[in-house]
Amino acid sequence: MKSSPQVEQLINETKKQLEHLRVLGVEGIGVVAETAASKPQAPALQREEAGVSLFKDLAPSAQILSPSSETFEQIHTEIGDCTRCPLHLERTHVVHTEGNRKARLMFVGEAPGADEDVQARPFVGRAGQLLTKIIEAIGLKREEVLIGNVNRCRPPGNRAPMPDEAATCKPFLEREIAVAQPQVIVVLGNTAMKNLLDTREGITRARGRFHDYKGIKVMPTFHPAYLLRDPAKKRETWEDLKKVRDYLDATKGTNDSKSN
Ligand code: URA
Repeated sequence: MKSSPQVEQLINETKKQLEHLRVLGVEGIGVVAETAASKPQAPALQREEAGVSLFKDLAPSAQILSPSSETFEQIHTEIGDCTRCPLHLERTHVVHTEGNRKARLMFVGEAPGADEDVQARPFVGRAGQLLTKIIEAIGLKREEVLIGNVNRCRPPGNRAPMPDEAATCKPFLEREIAVAQPQVIVVLGNTAMKNLLDTREGITRARGRFHDYKGIKVMPTFHPAYLLRDPAKKRETWEDLKKVRDYLDATKGTNDSKSN
């Protein structure tokens, strides 16, 4: 039997709500013979606080990133026409972090590719176009988030940056993170994750749950370039991004200096 559009909508809304609760850490729900009309709902703020504290419990932070009064311009000026590591030898442009500096959500990749090197902008090639779609899938626009890389110069032949090249460049990203103080960082792919989080865990095991970077929630997920090669992995990435969306929804309004 085919259900009516209203019933389908109700089922979809219920599924979304259950997924939201699952992310909040709820493992089961009891059924109470009570209608929504007979039970007053908790005020929005109270519900939001419950969500926030549950998420906090998931990952206590050993280190907290102190807010910084630097500007991105100061950091970029200091980077200048960088020659600090061998990657400068073959790059065309240094590719800086771009986007909304008051964003609650930041994406961090590995290093620029050929298109990024030419245009001096992160994630503008095919992988970047897919990243834009991923951002839009969680209800945001590309210009509403921050997008950067651990390394700012294109490695020859798109090889992964060497550990010392990543270690040279990473402090600038860390300074930008301290300025922007995003509430969530989505780290894209194995190399970026290992370099940002200093972990030995691989992306397949680490993805899908929040990690901590100095008090900021970090969600590792597959790199969009990998998704272009193996589209079946998009489903897992979508699961990861839904958790990010739900966390941002649950914590919305908890930091008034943030714009989305
Ligand atoms: N891959 C990355 O990791 N970063 C970019 O900016 C583009 C592709």
